[in-house]
Amino acid sequence: MTLYCGCREMNRRSFLRTSGAVAILAATDVAGSESTAHAAALTQQARDALTPGEVISRMLAGNERFAAGNQKPRDFLAEQRASAAGQYPAAIALTCVDSRAPVEVICDLGIGDAFNARVAGNIVNDDILGSMEFACMVAGAKLVLVMGHTACGAVKGAIDDVVLGNLTGLVAKIRPAIRETAYKGQRTSANPEFVDQVARTNVTMAVKQIRERSPILREMETSGKIKVVGSMYDLATAKVTLV
Ligand SMILES: [Zn+2]
Repeated sequence: MTLYCGCREMNRRSFLRTSGAVAILAATDVAGSESTAHAAALTQQARDALTPGEVISRMLAGNERFAAGNQKPRDFLAEQRASAAGQYPAAIALTCVDSRAPVEVICDLGIGDAFNARVAGNIVNDDILGSMEFACMVAGAKLVLVMGHTACGAVKGAIDDVVLGNLTGLVAKIRPAIRETAYKGQRTSANPEFVDQVARTNVTMAVKQIRERSPILREMETSGKIKVVGSMYDLATAKVTLV
């Protein structure tokens, strides 16, 4: 399995071998302890001790801090140094490219805390699934978090049947969510309520697709090693809610 930037072959065994080097760094957290240091990145020991449910809780707690303007003090350079030799992220997020929805910021995460796959409309494709399989099966992440957001331009584009270069094929992947959204009012991109309901459906369909199209992730979830969860980020309130 070759996964890293042409450097060398990376398989689970070599990952585990190289990753042990920084496991002895002082344990901090994803975003959960009351530590004010935040000097180091998440360690293997701290990450492995978390359950998938705890990872969800900590990301939501991080979002509550963010929404309240109460983020933890961080030393990004210290996190960079602590994680340079190895990473132990607790989650992989699938989020939209929207500049207003950076999961690391809105869930108050540090360097090394989470993988983040970003694509307009947080759609699933084979490469995204491969990234998730790497994150969970190879690198040990405990959570796959799909995060849509309100007022999503990609969702509006899908509703409007946008035809524009490669974007045409991308919005086609969102279109099934329009059909699946039972909404009786005005079904246009000018209706924010409809746009957000389609975005929500798009998230639940992505979660379903992940389970259906990745036997690896499905098995990991069935055996309790990971959870696959959908969520929505509200641009207006700064709140993340599970769907
Ligand atoms: Zn978006």
